[in-house]
Amino acid sequence: MKTYKLVILPGDGIGPEVMDQAVRLLSQVSSKEGFNLELTTESAGGVAIDQYGHPLPDEILERCKKAHAVLLGAVGGPKWDHLTGELRPESGLLKLRKSLGVFANLRPVSIPDSLAEASPLRTEIAQGTDLLVVRELTGGIYFGEPKGRAGTGVSEEGYNTMRYTAEEIERVTRIAFEWAKKRRGEVTSVDKANVLVVSQLWRDITTKVHREEFPHIKLSHMYVDNVAMQLVLNPKQFDVIVTGNLFGDILSDAAATLGGSLGLLPSASVGGPVGLFEPVHGSAPDIAGEGKANPIAMILSVSMMLDHLGESKAAQAIRTSVQEILATGVRTGDLRREGLQHVNTSKMGGLICERTLALL
Ligand code: NAD
Repeated sequence: MKTYKLVILPGDGIGPEVMDQAVRLLSQVSSKEGFNLELTTESAGGVAIDQYGHPLPDEILERCKKAHAVLLGAVGGPKWDHLTGELRPESGLLKLRKSLGVFANLRPVSIPDSLAEASPLRTEIAQGTDLLVVRELTGGIYFGEPKGRAGTGVSEEGYNTMRYTAEEIERVTRIAFEWAKKRRGEVTSVDKANVLVVSQLWRDITTKVHREEFPHIKLSHMYVDNVAMQLVLNPKQFDVIVTGNLFGDILSDAAATLGGSLGLLPSASVGGPVGLFEPVHGSAPDIAGEGKANPIAMILSVSMMLDHLGESKAAQAIRTSVQEILATGVRTGDLRREGLQHVNTSKMGGLICERTLALL
């Protein structure tokens, strides 16, 4: 029987609440599907600062590196907002991503018919959206050197460096092309090649990888400002979007709003030997501890993890059950509408769990 070693990092705010639902689902799915789980729960983010004085102590990082996958809730909150640099909860997350070598962040945004009316866009524009943002995660301006501040007074300057090597661009675009093969076969590469030299390299390399390795996939290039507009005007035109760290951060959040709630969106960070799976949303301190959090983003992150581990049947059953439960009109508070049935975090998790088991 297969055994998967998983490190569970519930984190802060609503992280532990949505993680409870994910772990319950995982345990029941594994029994039904006949695989073993070795779960180790650890602190990360604000709770780890409180406990160990660091958002991701080295021992916990080492445990993550030895796992098959890491499942994370969310980190951060007002309690730790005064901290700076390495001691911020988010720094622990950056350290985790960098150390695991997960250079590609995948964010699927798919709007089932039952949710199209919850979109801030007109129903007919949102309906049918099914796209995947592949964001480069461990390079670009968030990590480029030199960075810093220099000088004083009106001459003081702050600077960062947007830098990519050909290898960094090649490996993330390969992941995007591979995903396009399993989807509609179209990749949109996003850059700012009309202004940035680093983007000119990005465009050259994506074109080369396409020509040499994936000629049957349709590749188009778009400037980032145009993509920001097109995501709102006509999101259905996109299949796979691939882009660098900064543009990906911004565009994937814009794409995330299309479904009407951040509470729906999962993500997978891959490329290294250990994958990291986490919802797109943060720790939502405004609703933490109230049973209001939508667990679907966390549950779909579990589905992405199971796919990555090769447990595709269980992964698909989870996705189908989420769609079916939403289609029955059950909603958590973030998607509350007149005439729909309103439930709390645990009830939503329980319904999805029950339905998933019935599908397996
Ligand atoms: P957020 O994603 O936590 O919340 C934004 C809004 O969406 C809030 O109104 C919140 O209630 C709502 N929301 C988010 N997830 C939800 C869910 N599952 N169900 C229902 N509603 C949900 O973003 P924020 O408020 O900007 O940040 C709060 C904290 O989270 C900050 O400390 C921030 O640094 C941190 N953060 C962490 C991550 C991460 O751990 N990956 C990501 C983003 C923000």
